[in-house]
Amino acid sequence: MTKKKSAYSCQACGAVHFKWSGKCSDCGEWNSLVEEFEEGGANSHFSRITIDKKSSKNSNNKLDLIALDGEAQDFLRIKTTINELDRVLGGGLVQGSVILIGGDPGIGKSTLLIQTADALAKHNNHIIYISGEESVDQVRLRAKRLGISQAGIQLAATTNVSDIINSIKPDKNCPTIVIIDSIQTMFLEELSSAPGTVSQVRAAAGELTIFAKKNNITLLIVSHVTKDGQIAGPKVLEHMVDTVLYFEGEKDLHFRILRAIKNRFGAAGEIGVFEMNDIGLSEVNNPSELFLASYDRDTSGTAVFAGIEGSRPILVEVQALVSPSYMPTPRRAVVGWDLNRLAMVIAVLGSRFGLNLFDKEVYLNIVGGIEINETAADLAIACALISAARDIAIASSTIAIGEIGLTGEVRMINNLEARLKEAARLGFKNCIIPKANEKNKNFAALKKSLPDLNLKTVAHIRDLAQLFKK
Ligand SMILES: [Zn+2]
Repeated sequence: MTKKKSAYSCQACGAVHFKWSGKCSDCGEWNSLVEEFEEGGANSHFSRITIDKKSSKNSNNKLDLIALDGEAQDFLRIKTTINELDRVLGGGLVQGSVILIGGDPGIGKSTLLIQTADALAKHNNHIIYISGEESVDQVRLRAKRLGISQAGIQLAATTNVSDIINSIKPDKNCPTIVIIDSIQTMFLEELSSAPGTVSQVRAAAGELTIFAKKNNITLLIVSHVTKDGQIAGPKVLEHMVDTVLYFEGEKDLHFRILRAIKNRFGAAGEIGVFEMNDIGLSEVNNPSELFLASYDRDTSGTAVFAGIEGSRPILVEVQALVSPSYMPTPRRAVVGWDLNRLAMVIAVLGSRFGLNLFDKEVYLNIVGGIEINETAADLAIACALISAARDIAIASSTIAIGEIGLTGEVRMINNLEARLKEAARLGFKNCIIPKANEKNKNFAALKKSLPDLNLKTVAHIRDLAQLFKK
């Protein structure tokens, strides 16, 4: 047996440090370093792969080099028949692929997977559900609560990876899908680190992935996102799998968003929207209607933004609150958007529009718990801020889209057509859009195709003044 060398690996990002410290110098996380032993000098799991590669060097196998311009074979996909999930996956589960589903504990990952298993079992797939967190009876009870009793789903409760690999027999007649819930409970006996540490999580996922690829099994792996750094999060696995999905949402709100962070078989950034109720998760096919459900058109401090999430447009409500501050540095708080971007919009409004908020507290909320990353939201946020500061409601049925530059200019945005069509579908009448978009060659045709929409173009944020006349 080789001497064990100890090292400290960060449970948040996987970086290995040779000295313990309170803060990981790679990702900046506090208290995330845990002592782990490196068997045989390097991580045994990976060193074995290297040996495999070395031995193949001596073989006489020659590669068949082929031309790039040939016909590509389409991937074999298994439809889950849950449309929102199939959309995020890029059209269904690719047979033999490995999918990681990350999310906060308790957000509904197990519920999503047991419902997916049910839908797949109904269409003649062979499903194996391995629970490392709950006993078989607990999983059965959960399934019963959700009204699921598919005989086609086989259950087992274990945390031992070797036992799982030894027990699974791929079905020759139908696609086999294995669900691992969760990877943080799984362990390999060969490693001395505790389950949930970086080396265990990586090695367990690695073993399962190799097994799945070899046998053309589709593998769904659940991974908890952790904030305290006690167990390794999905970040340390992202490079090993084909597809990474995150299940997001606030626990006390009832809808959830499934987002593709990485997808070798489809577009990253695609989202699926679900609603959590007492019978489990149900699909939301018209998310804009959900996010605007409580939108009050005649209140000051609100504006509507037409965003693009993946390939679909989603309308969201932006709320702002501006109140006097008695602090030397007034508070700026934001939910669902970037705080630095908010600071920029406030600064531009101050110097280019004449709206000074330097002695005011500013709160900004994207309603419904959805996170927006688009700069095209600048204009809607500026509208909400002006509306809140001046206490004038924006003319009802108005949406705003546009990026704001530092000189106050409103810049061109992409996907205008999809955004405007969604606004028209939901009955909006007025759209404030960048003047720069008029230059697009199909703008005239687009305007003609949406006769019910009144398009107001703005070149500079000072043009917004006309909206806020009492
Ligand atoms: Zn780190």
